[in-house]
Amino acid sequence: MRTELGSPGNPLIVAVVGAGPSGFYTTDALIKSDLAVEVNMFERLPSPYGLVRSGVAPDHPKLKKAIRFYDRIAEAEQFNYIGNVTVGKDISVEELRSAHHAVVFTCGAETDRRLGIAGEDLPGSHTATEFVGWYNGHPDYRDREFDFSGDTAVIIGQGNVAADVGRILAKTVDELKHTDIAEHALQALTRSRLRNIHVVGRRGPAQAKFTPHELKEFGSLADCDPVVARDELTLNPESAAELEEKAGAGNKKVYELLCSFAEHEAKGGNKRCIFTFLKSPKAFLGEDKLTGILLEQNVLSGAPFKQSARGNGATFTLKTSLVLRSIGYHGLAMPGVPFDEGRGVFSNDKGRIVEDGKVVPGLYTAGWIKRGPTGLIGANKADSAQTVSALLEDVGRLGADGVRGGAASCYEILDRRGVRHVSFADWKTIDASELTRGAAVGKPREKYTSVPAMLNLLK
Ligand code: NAP
Repeated sequence: MRTELGSPGNPLIVAVVGAGPSGFYTTDALIKSDLAVEVNMFERLPSPYGLVRSGVAPDHPKLKKAIRFYDRIAEAEQFNYIGNVTVGKDISVEELRSAHHAVVFTCGAETDRRLGIAGEDLPGSHTATEFVGWYNGHPDYRDREFDFSGDTAVIIGQGNVAADVGRILAKTVDELKHTDIAEHALQALTRSRLRNIHVVGRRGPAQAKFTPHELKEFGSLADCDPVVARDELTLNPESAAELEEKAGAGNKKVYELLCSFAEHEAKGGNKRCIFTFLKSPKAFLGEDKLTGILLEQNVLSGAPFKQSARGNGATFTLKTSLVLRSIGYHGLAMPGVPFDEGRGVFSNDKGRIVEDGKVVPGLYTAGWIKRGPTGLIGANKADSAQTVSALLEDVGRLGADGVRGGAASCYEILDRRGVRHVSFADWKTIDASELTRGAAVGKPREKYTSVPAMLNLLK
């Protein structure tokens, strides 16, 4: 007779799909539970850590310290890393369900929201995801080309991704060359002729979504002045009220920094980062490549914290050959998992995946693909804990219908299909080589930017 699920003789076998922060926090919560578990983490790339590796800006190494914690989680003997495996292609969701008592999707928000306006796909108009992936050496984006030959770039959006993107464009090569920025990006940025970087918000300076720390960095760049026109800092009564509320404390700091930039005497840097507000893109201009962007002036309406922007009909053109659209991420659907297209998340109730209002047994989700693309890395810890506690509450109902083969049965499927799956020890071989390559050129690491290059090291 089989022992109870979650006992040493009958461990709870869980697949975690996606090796970013929420995947590791989910794994950690499962391993620290009172149950005996086996956790198998599936990842599309050979390399783990998701956006900590390919999203966090190369000049923000402190944010990457989370990796040390993830590596400690990966040491647990109940854990198997199964990298270089695309769920939905190399192995199906159904096959994962057959091999596990539960599957937790932690695959993040992999694409960008769209503006839905004319010319959005003209050469020269890119998503922030492409640019961030490119400078961080993500294999999907290594071959992208960005035109830095003009003097003006425009970034649409005023969140922390826009801040990262603006800062990387604004920094000198000397400020970047000892980071883990991909070599191809460093080389291309060496040839940059950009002088003006416009960071455009559709709402006002009281609604910008930068965190103060990220905005403050623009005040201490080596060769770039932050610029804000004083007349753009006038607040309507609702915005002024927002800044006086507790919920507006962060925005108030951001607003004060913007005011300090407006007062600040330019140090005569070669570049200017111009923060501008209450403007929305109406069209991307150009025949076969981008030559400019048409912006419309906005006004705000609504109660404090609910204000939205609407155009007032006044438009103007900014000439540019490079626009980076940084208006937030959007999750991607996966065959076999109910998806909420409007929100870009897997339909769920506190982490339990639901279809037509009913819980789908054994399917869970955590992180950005559960709640949408907001929050810093640490926010995923509580979010993953919520999902794992739902899963643990359900244990009595999981797996009553038979034995699960876990990692062993997945390896068998993958081997049969000729998929070179990558273990955590394999990843550590790649990691060691990246560190050695980096040390040789005075960088913390030099990433491999192609999957074949990583796999070649493992032969
Ligand atoms: P975000 O913070 O949601 O910012 C998106 C920006 O795009 C907002 O300014 C938003 O304006 C604007 N936007 C949205 N739709 C638009 C449209 N149709 N037209 C014009 N503008 C539009 O998203 P994010 O920058 O992608 O960041 C995602 C999350 O990652 C955030 O929680 C962020 O803090 C975090 N992150 C953190 C760091 C860090 O800690 N260093 C770095 C990167 C990202 P509205 O406010 O009007 O919607």
